[in-house]
Amino acid sequence: MVDLRRKSALEDFVKIRKRLCDFMTSLQAKVLTPLCGGCYYSKIKLLELPGEPPHICSETWRNDLAWEVGLTEKEIRNIARMLKQGDDVPLRCGTCSTPLQYGEDDFYVDSEFFEDYFDIPAKKPSKRTKKEIARLYEHKCYGCGKKLSKIDITNDHIVARVHGGENSPLNLQVLCKNCNNHIKGPRKVDTINVHLTFLFRPPPSDSYEGLTW
Ligand SMILES: [Zn+2]
Ligand SMILES: [Zn+2]
Repeated sequence: MVDLRRKSALEDFVKIRKRLCDFMTSLQAKVLTPLCGGCYYSKIKLLELPGEPPHICSETWRNDLAWEVGLTEKEIRNIARMLKQGDDVPLRCGTCSTPLQYGEDDFYVDSEFFEDYFDIPAKKPSKRTKKEIARLYEHKCYGCGKKLSKIDITNDHIVARVHGGENSPLNLQVLCKNCNNHIKGPRKVDTINVHLTFLFRPPPSDSYEGLTW
């Protein structure tokens, strides 16, 4: 499932950034996943995670898609059907897929930065990635909304490199030269921190049938 999500990770990231941020705001996202006790404790040894994590409160997992992690596509479709019928959806460990019972099993939350979770490298984006970003921003300046031709597009580092911004596709947006050089210029951007207990996509409807989503 992570692989399915990975394919659309950048697209999903831009989608949620458009919902929450303007061109002067950077999005820092963490993905939360449920872990069974066994996987959590073996992970502690591996990574020496600090302290005790918070338990997942079952309510926060309602209607979100975090439990999709570790499931096959067929299982996800089953879940979609159950959701549609208003049935209770089982929660599963994000690592070993063991079903977790609300209120019966101990389970924990694992929190990872979006880029780590989806393996998005912090390196100079390729030409193809830049093209993809231009497409995701609909070839429009994210500052003033102006439609841009190929030569007018600038790929702006949302958090400027001089302010410690990463060289990563998640830190790029499309701006016109005016918004980039004169309006944004060297100003510092705000940062919004979000925890994603869902993976962005609305519950699938009939229109998704037969599609990979
Ligand atoms: Zn597990
Ligand atoms: Zn502009």
